[in-house]
Amino acid sequence: MDIEKQIAKTIKDHGLIKKGEKVVVALSGGKDSTSLVYILKKLGYNVHGLMIDLYLGQWSKTHNENMIKFCKENDIPLTIVDLKKELGQGICFIKSIVKKKKNLTGCSVCGTVKRWILNKHAKKLGAKKLATGHNLDDEAQNVLMNFLKGNVLLGVNSSPATGGKPVEGFVQRIKPLFFTPEDEIRKYAKSNNFKILYEKCPCAFGTYRVETRSWTKDLNNKQKLKVVEGFQKILPKLRGNNKMEIAMCKKCGEPARKELCNFCEVMNCV
Ligand code: AMP
Ligand code: ZN
Repeated sequence: MDIEKQIAKTIKDHGLIKKGEKVVVALSGGKDSTSLVYILKKLGYNVHGLMIDLYLGQWSKTHNENMIKFCKENDIPLTIVDLKKELGQGICFIKSIVKKKKNLTGCSVCGTVKRWILNKHAKKLGAKKLATGHNLDDEAQNVLMNFLKGNVLLGVNSSPATGGKPVEGFVQRIKPLFFTPEDEIRKYAKSNNFKILYEKCPCAFGTYRVETRSWTKDLNNKQKLKVVEGFQKILPKLRGNNKMEIAMCKKCGEPARKELCNFCEVMNCV
């Protein structure tokens, strides 16, 4: 099945998007989110790109320029959020302080900051859904990574759409590429001649994610799908036994599972 059909099927099977509702697509500038916004637009959805300028030197500059051009050419509205205006610092500074003071590693800190900013701005843009470019390979790595960390519950929210009842203040996150393998997305982006960078994030080194990526590289796409589908089967039971209430963060007012949201907990040392 070609990936456009597969993505349309994932959207239909999991009820991810209603026609007409506003979908904000988180754009990193990479092949996954670029292909995603392009395909959603082609399928007739009401898309709006949202990109965070993380201030990762030339890498961020090139990604930003590429996305401005790409969205213009494809008639996709784009909002770029400036991390320094938002938080006063670029992501490298934030990560190095948090690593020193809390011993939390790179990708998880960056992920927490990105999720907080994306939710806040998707809400401002009036989004009904917030779509990210996470693909089958990312999801297979997550399942294995959580097992190996000894904390399967970390994956309790990992599905094509964040589950449960809609939560006030929280734009539902969707992952239409959940079952689509990374190599097929790369092929799609190249065959459509997208003018983008194909390299991985320059900051993602020496992290657990990078290690897991090397373990999963010898699995074929069918095996990755088995890992992901297997986990989806046990998910309802995991969720049933681990209901987590969502409240409002005491500090920033964004959704939180504890008194403070993850972002405020991470950022209180910066
Ligand atoms: P990553 O965490 O880099 O693997 O990215 C996973 C997904 O998060 C991407 O496919 C995008 O949808 C989103 N994302 C990553 N970086 C950014 C960014 N700088 N701005 C907006 N969305 C992003
Ligand atoms: Zn907070």
